[in-house]
Amino acid sequence: MPAPQIIWFRNDLRLADQAAVRAAARAGPVVALYVLDDHRPAPDSAPEGWRQGWAMGAAQRWWLHHSLASLAKDLKALGGCLVLRRGRSAEVVPAVAAEVGAGAVHCLGRVEPWARADEAAVAARVRLHVHDGVALVRPESVLTGTGGRYRIFTPWWRRMLEQMSPGQPWGAPEAIDFVGDVASDRLEDWGLLPMRPNWAKGFDVWTPGEAGAAARLADFVGRASAYDRTRNLPSVEGTSRLSPHLAMGEISVRTVWRAVEGAVGEAGEPFLRELGWRDFAANILDLFPDHGEVPGRAVFERFGFLEDSEALAAWQQGRTGYPVVDAGMRQLWGEGWMHNRVRMIAASFLTKHLLIDWRHGERWFWDCLVDADLAANSLGWQWVMGSGVDSSPFNRVFAPVGQSAKFEAADYIRRWVPELRSLDDKAIHAPWEHGGVRCYPPPIVGHEAARARALDAFGVARAGV
Ligand code: FAD
Repeated sequence: MPAPQIIWFRNDLRLADQAAVRAAARAGPVVALYVLDDHRPAPDSAPEGWRQGWAMGAAQRWWLHHSLASLAKDLKALGGCLVLRRGRSAEVVPAVAAEVGAGAVHCLGRVEPWARADEAAVAARVRLHVHDGVALVRPESVLTGTGGRYRIFTPWWRRMLEQMSPGQPWGAPEAIDFVGDVASDRLEDWGLLPMRPNWAKGFDVWTPGEAGAAARLADFVGRASAYDRTRNLPSVEGTSRLSPHLAMGEISVRTVWRAVEGAVGEAGEPFLRELGWRDFAANILDLFPDHGEVPGRAVFERFGFLEDSEALAAWQQGRTGYPVVDAGMRQLWGEGWMHNRVRMIAASFLTKHLLIDWRHGERWFWDCLVDADLAANSLGWQWVMGSGVDSSPFNRVFAPVGQSAKFEAADYIRRWVPELRSLDDKAIHAPWEHGGVRCYPPPIVGHEAARARALDAFGVARAGV
C-alpha cells in the first residue's frame, strides 16, 4: 500500500494542469490541504515603516473564500474533500504529514520570499517535491549569453521566446484516491468574507474558481483578435480580466497561452507579451525579494515624498477631481479590479501629482485588488514611479486629462462617477473647464504646478541634497 501524499495547495487552486495534483495522485492516496497562513513577513532589508508583511488583503480573501469553496466542490465530485487548516505553513504542513503518515508533500514552487521560506522550512522536516507550473518558465532559467540574469523586459522577452515553447496543458485527473477522515476547519469559520457593511456587493461580476476561470478564458478567446486595438480603452471590455484567476492559480498560464495562440495565431502576440510581463515580474521579484519595499534605484531612497493623509484619502476614495483617476479608484473599490491603463494613470497621479510614496499606493492596491500579486504589483508601482530597475523615466508624468481623452474614457467615467453622467464626451475629462459640476470636487492639485513640483523633487533627490 503506497504511503499517502499531500497536495499542499497555495495560490494554485486548480485540478487541471497542476503538477502537484498529478504527481501526488499518481504516487498514492492523497490529502488535499490548504493552509491559511497570514505569516508573510517582509524581508529583513525592508526599511522602517514598511515591515508589516503581506498577509492576504481583504478583497483577495473574498476571492479565496469562493475559490476554496469551488475547489472543495470539485474534489467532492471526485470522492474527496479539501482539508482546511490555519496557522504557520512551516508547522502545519509537517504536522498534517505526521498525522496521516504521508510519504511526501507536493506543491508548486513560488517566488514570494515568504513562500520560499515556507518551502525551505517544510522541506527541512518532510519530503517535499516542488513542481513547476505557476509561471511559464523558471525565472532562473532565462539567462543572457554570459549566464547573467535579465533586468530589462525586452531582451528578456526575446530570450524567453527563443527558448520557450509552453507544453500542452493536461486535464484534471479523472479519478483520485483520497485518504478519508482527516480533520478540517470549516471554511465559514475563517471569516474571509466581509461582515457589515458588505463592501463586496459589486464583486458579483466575478466567478472565482476553476470553472469560472475556464469560462472567462473561453469568453476572451472569442475577442482576442481585437485585443491590441482595444486593450488600452477602459470603456471597452478589451482585456481578458483573467488576472484574479491567474493570481489564485485557478487556471495555468500555459493553458491561457495555448488557447489564445491556437485561436488567433500571430495576432495573439500582444496578449502573449502581457503574459510575458507576468513572468518578468516573477523574475524581478526572484532577483530582488524586497522589491515590494525597496526602490530599485537608490536615488528614490532619499526622495522627498509628502506625508499627506487627506490627499491619500481623497485618492483612495476617488475624490481627486480628476474624473479618470476617480473612476479608476472607484472601480477598484467597487469590483476589486482596475483597468491596466487606469492603474498607470492613478498610480502616476498618486506618486507624481500628490508626491505620495508609491508604497502607500501599493499597499492600498494590495488590500483592494482581487488580483493582488506581490511581483506584478511591486513591478507596476515601481515602473510607474520610475524607481524600478526597468521603469518608465521619472519625468514621464501621465497627464490625467490628456490620457482620459486619448483613451476615450468618457463612458468609463460615466459608469463609475455618476455625478458626471450628464457631461458630453469633451467636457467629461475636465469638468472644471466647463463650469464644474455640483457634488463633484474641483481638482485637488493643478496639473502643471504638480508636474513642476514633482520634477523639482526629483532634481533635489538626484542632487543628493
Ligand atoms: P490582460 O491585459 O488581459 O493581460 C493578461 C494577463 O497578463 C493578466 O491577467 C496578467 O496576469 C498579465 N499581465 C498583464 N499586464 C501585466 C503587467 N504589467 N505585469 C504583470 N502581469 C501582467 N497585475 C496583477 O496581476 N496583480 C497586481 O497586483 C497588479 N498590480 C498592478 C499595479 C500597478 C500600479 C500597475 C500599473 C499594474 C498592475 N498589474 C497587476 C498589472 C496589470 O494591470 C494587470 O495584470 C491587468 O490589468 C489585469 O487585467 P487583465 O487580466 O484583463 O489583463
